[in-house]
Amino acid sequence: MATTQFEGVPAVTGEAPGPSGTVVMKFGGTSVAETGRIKAVAQRLVAAREAGNRVVAVLSAMGDTTDELLRLANEVSPTPVPREVDMLISVGERVSCALCAMAIHDLGQEAISLTGSQAGIVTDTVHGRAKIVDVRARRIHEALDADRIVLVAGFQGVSTDYDVTTLGRGGSNLTAVALAAALGADACEMYTDVEGVFTADPRVVPTARKLHAVSYEEMLEMAASGAKVLQLRSVELARNHGVKVHVRSSFSDAPGTWIREEDERMLEKAIISGVTHTIEESVYRVDRIDAARLFEALSDAGVSVDTIVQTGPEIVFSGPSSEAADTSAALDRLGVSWTSRDDLGKVSVIGAGMKTHPGVAGRTFSTLAQLGIAPEIVATSPIKIACFVDRDRVEDAVRSLHSAFDLDAEEAARAH
Ligand code: ADP
Ligand code: ASP
Ligand code: MG
Repeated sequence: MATTQFEGVPAVTGEAPGPSGTVVMKFGGTSVAETGRIKAVAQRLVAAREAGNRVVAVLSAMGDTTDELLRLANEVSPTPVPREVDMLISVGERVSCALCAMAIHDLGQEAISLTGSQAGIVTDTVHGRAKIVDVRARRIHEALDADRIVLVAGFQGVSTDYDVTTLGRGGSNLTAVALAAALGADACEMYTDVEGVFTADPRVVPTARKLHAVSYEEMLEMAASGAKVLQLRSVELARNHGVKVHVRSSFSDAPGTWIREEDERMLEKAIISGVTHTIEESVYRVDRIDAARLFEALSDAGVSVDTIVQTGPEIVFSGPSSEAADTSAALDRLGVSWTSRDDLGKVSVIGAGMKTHPGVAGRTFSTLAQLGIAPEIVATSPIKIACFVDRDRVEDAVRSLHSAFDLDAEEAARAH
């Protein structure tokens, strides 16, 4: 019987790092949107190899490919079979990797592209948002030992039932962090279309500042509340395994943002690190139900729940709009009376310094009040204040809070 060598991701923490100089470099959809950009990525990978690194690259699908493939699926069927959706949408990242391997060969280096399955990314059996349970990296090690640049198709794996699975939107980030953990890489470099993590989405706040360093906890809150620059689960995995993540631009050599353990310098600088927002959440109101029964049913249906507020017999919670169909079906099965709203968005103020500085809530509410905004729901954590407000006021709220907390000032960048 053939034996498979593997390194389980959960076992990696604290172990000696792998051969020195392993670097994982992930490129997002915009960074590989055209063949010209794929050639530029190939050049960057070759340069990293020639500098003496063992190079593992994780690529996303080109541009809007994933959305385009999902559109095709919905044209064929209003409720496409999840297994086949994964077969379909996992193709996008394979295209990018194969093209990039070709470009690398033309630059005189050896490269090999691998599907998630060939790369040893083993997942559970939940289609569309599978969790990684193991990384069996033998084949990657062999290719690196043979002096090859290894290109791994992001966002996908093979389930314990041998089916192709995908890891949820933005899942190439998760592939990259899992590989960095399993290979003991020095760093996980996330190349994207912005220069790092900013104090707010630079598309909404042009004066937003690039943060030089962000703690895992802050990045978790930012990712959970709408800063889609990193997928939430990838930040969780990075924190659990101590993987240092560097978010940076694929269009320049400028240093980006390091995500790592909190240190004193992070607390000394601005109290607030950023203002995030999302308009992709729905808010549900359920009457007279036992909380345990409700949230067990939602968990069984595989839907993720964000904010939860309970007052008397009524429970209000929010969840991703993309999971609205599964959430509604689960609520219907419970036979309870419920309503949902899609006219709200969430604005969150986040910062590790909030733990020791009072007054953040006061300034948040007075800033919103000056705009004539009364939040419908408020939820807090030790480092976050999140407010649900009218969806069409979300961007105004983000801009005003950003300036109310002086985030357009130079000090907000936490340079050191
Ligand atoms: P990729 O395709 O490289 O994974 P994404 O489009 O998923 O990139 O994420 C990058 C985008 O995230 C940026 O273009 C930016 O508009 C958005 N974004 C939202 N909030 C932030 C933030 N606080 N800092 C940086 N980018 C942010
Ligand atoms: N292509 C996938 C998506 O669009 C995965 C990724 O880019 O990380 O979500
Ligand atoms: Mg992304």
